[in-house]
Amino acid sequence: MNASFLPYGRQHIDDEDVAAVVAVLRSDMLTTGPAVSDFEAALSDHAGGADSVVCANGTAALHMAALAAGLGPGDFAVVPAITFLATANAVRLAGAEVMFADVDPTTGLMMPAHVEAALSRSRSGRVKAVFPVHLAGQTADPAGFVRLADQHGFMLIEDACHALGTRYLDARHVVGSCDHSAMTCFSFHPVKSIAMGEGGAVTTRDPSLAQSLRRLRSHGMVHAKADFENRDMAFGPDGQANPWYYEMPAVGLNYRASDIQCALGTSQLTKLPRFLERRRQLVRKYDELFAVLQPVVRPLSRTDCVPGWHLYVVRIDFDAIGMDRGTFMRKLRQQGIGSQVHYIPVSQQPYYRNRYGNIALPGAEEYYRSCLSLPLYPSMNDDDVSRVVAAISAIVR
Ligand SMILES: *Cc1c(COP(=O)(O)O)cnc(C)c1O
Repeated sequence: MNASFLPYGRQHIDDEDVAAVVAVLRSDMLTTGPAVSDFEAALSDHAGGADSVVCANGTAALHMAALAAGLGPGDFAVVPAITFLATANAVRLAGAEVMFADVDPTTGLMMPAHVEAALSRSRSGRVKAVFPVHLAGQTADPAGFVRLADQHGFMLIEDACHALGTRYLDARHVVGSCDHSAMTCFSFHPVKSIAMGEGGAVTTRDPSLAQSLRRLRSHGMVHAKADFENRDMAFGPDGQANPWYYEMPAVGLNYRASDIQCALGTSQLTKLPRFLERRRQLVRKYDELFAVLQPVVRPLSRTDCVPGWHLYVVRIDFDAIGMDRGTFMRKLRQQGIGSQVHYIPVSQQPYYRNRYGNIALPGAEEYYRSCLSLPLYPSMNDDDVSRVVAAISAIVR
């Protein structure tokens, strides 16, 4: 039996991936070259034709999306309490205020009703954007969010860092298509479904958002003649654009991804269907084996989507087994099994508590109390799953 350490997530890199990166290293362009546009084209293809703007990481994707949405001082954006720090931080970094929404305790997902509850809590706030987070890879009522957005006039920005390859509404739509949002943000951190080392992307079907995102990614610069404002500086006596010339109509960042990273991204994306199929098989195996431990150990409730599973999360009744979660995790680790908590409610981070006070979000608290993410990644075998479940059964009994 393979007794090596099982982390909660990890990348799967093969010789093809290595060769793709090496080829870039031997080429002329290490950044802003053809591997970037190739990856964007592949990602757009995956996303049903939505435009793709690849960037440095998922946090950069969310920050650029917040800025492109026009979030700024005086604006509010709704973010679920159960997410990674970066979703809320993107809003703050744009200068807007975060309104934390509650989640369903059985899925960890913010539903449209939780957004409505958050909206009714607000006194003065102009809510400009809502960030649904596809926790673990599941979506929650995309059409319901669109109805709410139409009613209240806010923009939907999906945090799909967990959900590359998720399909929804009878599998007719793919996450990233932006069929039910203005923008979708992805991360390609090594624990996510495909790895770039560091990497991310925003997809959109709105050409003006795409243009803003491309400018924000690279210092706010423009290079196209038609965009130049200072025409006296831009053009020579013959009317030709000066060869050195660029302009900055708005402030931007350097959030570019390199060709090295993008070559890995493209190579990994070709394997996504295989990765997702393997993740689904492992999830089925876990579900089967955990059935006997119900209700003390329960998988997340399922929504009506076909998830590109990023995490395998169980909810554990630690009171019933008479053990706290820290002890439980240490016992698993002693047996070579990694686990993690996704997530500590972001609203309880000192920064946000100091800013907004202690907001009661009972669904998020209940979810947080019980959740535990167990090893899930494509190179796991069925015996690894059995080993995890056997270890948990032994601790629980
Ligand atoms: C990973 C993740 C991010 C941030 O992505 P990075 O690439 O690590 O910057 C944001 N939101 C969620 C939900 C994530 O899981």
